[in-house]
Amino acid sequence: MNILILGSGGREHALAWKIADSPLTERLYCAPGNAGIARQAECVPLDLTEHAAVAAFCRDRRIDLVVVGPEAPLCAGIVDDLESAGIKAFGPSRAAAQLEGSKGFTKDLCRANAIPTAAFARFKEAGAAKAYIRAHGAPIVVKADGLAAGKGVVVAQSEAEAEAAIEMMFGGGLGGAGGEVVIEEFLEGEEASFFALCDGETAIPMATAQDHKRAFDGDKGSNTGGMGAYSPAPNIDAAMSARIMNDIVAPTMRAMKAMGTAYKGVLYAGLMITDQGPKLIEYNARFGDPETQVLMPRLMSDLVPALLASRDGMLKSFDLRWHQTPALTVVMAAKGYPGHYARGTVIEGLDEAAAIEGVEIFHAGTKAEAGRILANGGRVLNISATGKTVRQAQELAYQAISRIRWPEGFYRRDIGWRAVERESRV
Ligand code: AMP
Repeated sequence: MNILILGSGGREHALAWKIADSPLTERLYCAPGNAGIARQAECVPLDLTEHAAVAAFCRDRRIDLVVVGPEAPLCAGIVDDLESAGIKAFGPSRAAAQLEGSKGFTKDLCRANAIPTAAFARFKEAGAAKAYIRAHGAPIVVKADGLAAGKGVVVAQSEAEAEAAIEMMFGGGLGGAGGEVVIEEFLEGEEASFFALCDGETAIPMATAQDHKRAFDGDKGSNTGGMGAYSPAPNIDAAMSARIMNDIVAPTMRAMKAMGTAYKGVLYAGLMITDQGPKLIEYNARFGDPETQVLMPRLMSDLVPALLASRDGMLKSFDLRWHQTPALTVVMAAKGYPGHYARGTVIEGLDEAAAIEGVEIFHAGTKAEAGRILANGGRVLNISATGKTVRQAQELAYQAISRIRWPEGFYRRDIGWRAVERESRV
């Protein structure tokens, strides 16, 4: 098969690495890709907002399957446009991607189908939203309805902070994403990410992960796209997984089908495991980044037939096998991220780092120039490792990092601390 991956981050590199390994893959392309992906795929400079140009490329190169990485093209309907041009595409339609694209849509779906989630209300103007905040008190969570690149959620510790978030969102601080707002109850518990593969009718559980969103050690500093992750999530055992499938994922699949917007692709549930059981925080309509960089090294099965079965509605008798061993990834970012950072700094030592057994390096924001690897984004590299324990995976990842020479980069030194602590208790 000829396969085209859309995207340019660490997630897409991990997907390219796994897809390139499939005996079914003949030619692999990635648009636009990065310097690391270029090792597994031919990178092509397509503009992902130009769906017709992507379709034309697919016809020209006889692409058998398009794998969409990020949420923006999904929410813009790229799967619909490719499919109507006769090209198979993995991922949800535009209507189904609303599970990620509109927080209000998902909350209404939860309410209508008794799916456990935080109590909430939706608002289109500031006055009523502030009155709700005053009536409920803090802590309280304010969310922009639309896609806001990870900036749309404010977990407010005081009413004043919540009201400031309302002002910011309705004041246009997040552009169109903040035109409508969801306010919800603050949930207490431990978070986890749960990934299911869906074909419109059937959902099969994939794997679980936990990530670190804050920029600095001790989970301090600004929120980022994610500074590291590990899989599996230690707080999700087989019984909890079955409960999540039964109480959250399966009713979502049934509801989406009943509405005529059957969900295909990866359904990524962000969960809070509370005293009353798992509650949905949010859905994403795609693989996670950096979670994919720990899922792919743990996936024993061939990914390509799984993606095809999702697209073709054939997951019913499908089975995915996973290595029991954990994986961990540490993100290396450009100093200043998630704020202002420099591009174009030189990274050395990657081959020495990748030579360590059990280590895999996935590139995010990199480019190759004159035989050198340069930083070309905020999150730049993912150093992934598998080990017998999370602690061992963590040691390997940091050992690899010690071989990388990039003075303009930074990373957290405590990725996996919670899981390692748990391991040392048993
Ligand atoms: P999101 O962008 O929706 O993933 O939210 C970002 C983070 O905000 C989540 O990972 C949680 O840590 C936190 N969060 C979102 N909703 C809630 C909630 N209802 N209660 C507590 N924390 C929340």
